[in-house]
Amino acid sequence: MTANLLDFDLEGLAAFCQRLGEKRYRAVQLFRWIHQKGAANFDDMSDLAKSLREKLKLVAQIKAPTVLSQHISSDGTIKWLFDVGAGDAVEAVFIPEEDRGTLCVSSQAGCAMGCRFCSTGHQGFSRNLKTGEIIGQLWFAERFLRQHLQRDERVISNVVMMGMGEPLQNYAELIPALRIMLDDHGYGLSRRRVTVSTSGIVPKMDLLAEQCPVALAVSLHAPNDALRDNLVPLNKKYPLAELLAACDRYLAHAPRDFITFEYCMLDGVNDQPEHARQLVELVRQHSSRTGWCKFNLIPFNPFPQSGLTRSPPEQILRFAKILSDAGIVTTIRKTRGDDIDAACGQLAGDVMDRTRVGERIARQRTVMLKPVATFNQSVKET
Ligand code: SAH
Ligand code: SF4
Repeated sequence: MTANLLDFDLEGLAAFCQRLGEKRYRAVQLFRWIHQKGAANFDDMSDLAKSLREKLKLVAQIKAPTVLSQHISSDGTIKWLFDVGAGDAVEAVFIPEEDRGTLCVSSQAGCAMGCRFCSTGHQGFSRNLKTGEIIGQLWFAERFLRQHLQRDERVISNVVMMGMGEPLQNYAELIPALRIMLDDHGYGLSRRRVTVSTSGIVPKMDLLAEQCPVALAVSLHAPNDALRDNLVPLNKKYPLAELLAACDRYLAHAPRDFITFEYCMLDGVNDQPEHARQLVELVRQHSSRTGWCKFNLIPFNPFPQSGLTRSPPEQILRFAKILSDAGIVTTIRKTRGDDIDAACGQLAGDVMDRTRVGERIARQRTVMLKPVATFNQSVKET
């Protein structure tokens, strides 16, 4: 069977090369060609012996998921929809800012966590992505952006695992992908610039701390167990006290000295002053060290089946003020790429209606789509 070299971190590639009778430094060369130069063809790898290139052609390939569609927003945000087979599609979003370029990456097709305010959750779980499908989003995006923006140097400086899926539910495939992002021979991103976002799978947070500590964002969304049980069903398994204790343990290994809490602002549900005061209390009770967490308030992106609405701006501001008056660093997430539906929880919204009932229809629609953009095609703004 042909191996997809995007599935391997450097150690995995070294083992693969060893099986071909090649030394480790060959694996390093190959790894650099793939991830630093974005090579897709072995013939382009001019400093590899011809005999090795021929051997590789027989047993290996470099294969990112195929792009089904690409949308470029007026604010520069780019959203790609990738075909991952069997009618499943996942998305990645590039968000350019003055001092950084962030890629939001998916880890699963669908999600099993069933959070009430999340359209991926409503869609249900299809399958875990392979390492090559996770890193393939970055490989493709970096390669595309360099050509599109005519830049030789790296364009993507930050990666957030905040696309579709619960990354820690796909731990085994996630870790090699993170290692490729961090590897100096790969994308060379610092641990502070790679963020895993989780709804709170406590044992996996501990494993991540031990095996690959990167920046951590925790999707909190509620100040007490009763409300969180309702919004994030996983809370019944790992309630707030356990989750916060796991955050504490994580901080001992984390590349940053704070955890980011994400908090989706739902009108009349979790956005009242009382909720903000409860949060302040929760944070204080948990640790007297100020600055151990930051809040990122995300205005809810509505979708039809949720039955929920976005908090009005003045409510969000009032909520943010209570937190910041208590000394908690709080930001309100700007929605980006609104004109192309690239905001949180809207991913793949144009292809899938994200309910189990709608899934089959969505599948049919997905397979009917043709790839509209490949790396070498120029892309029109939409
Ligand atoms: N499964 C992980 C990461 C993917 S979701 C997690 O839950 O953390 C990334 C972020 O988007 C999470 O904080 C999630 O709560 C938020 N989100 C999901 N649906 C949303 C919506 N409709 N509006 C705003 N934010 C949403
Ligand atoms: Fe899954 Fe995250 Fe959506 Fe919850 S918010 S359903 S964990 S993707």
